[in-house]
Amino acid sequence: MLRLITDFDGPVMNVSERYYRVYRFCLESVSDRRQKINQLSKESFWGLKRSQMPEVEIGQRSGLSPAQSREFAQLRKDTVHQMEQLVHDEPVPGAIASLERAQAMGVNLVVMTMRRVRELDYALERYDLGRFFPENRRYCLGNDYVKTGDSKDKPKLMAAALKELPPASQTWMVGDTEADIAAARFGKVPAVGVLSGIRDRDRLEFFGPDAIVDNLGAALDLIESQVLDKDLLTAV
Ligand SMILES: [Mg+2]
Repeated sequence: MLRLITDFDGPVMNVSERYYRVYRFCLESVSDRRQKINQLSKESFWGLKRSQMPEVEIGQRSGLSPAQSREFAQLRKDTVHQMEQLVHDEPVPGAIASLERAQAMGVNLVVMTMRRVRELDYALERYDLGRFFPENRRYCLGNDYVKTGDSKDKPKLMAAALKELPPASQTWMVGDTEADIAAARFGKVPAVGVLSGIRDRDRLEFFGPDAIVDNLGAALDLIESQVLDKDLLTAV
């Protein structure tokens, strides 16, 4: 059995619209009316996020003072994961077709995400994605879990997955950030970085996944080409 553990935001869901709306809301909330602010375009904003620029610096680039920027960063942190913001997320173009393809190839799909149960469930229901990930193949944070940091929390999910999932002949991990790479390393499985998420090629290269590809579909192509033993892929 070939197992593919995929991150959710980045390979499957596009969160850029949510992040951009929250950015604008925070910018507006923190600035005062007569202040001249420099609201970034969505493209520049997302480019900065993908280059991993700290929020405080994004605030200053947008015309906020250092104190305002700290307030901006805090407000952003408090707002971006609110349930009412999730409506702005959309599947990455082609991601659903890629999941369908993986399923048809007989790949054992697992989702591993820093979303909380309610946040994951919301998207799975909204876009009918639950069909790819049965409940016992969903690894996410509990609704009351106190987060420490993605690169620390994600390996914990990997540890749970390794303990609970039936053994697979081969396992691959696909994700868009350093947290996914850390989880893959922890689980001693190959990490494929995708560029459809919140890190650009420079950042991903810095974190050193085993491969970098455009999106989930390309990750699947790569995995397919690497799996020499075709018996691992049992078409259904
Ligand atoms: Mg991600």
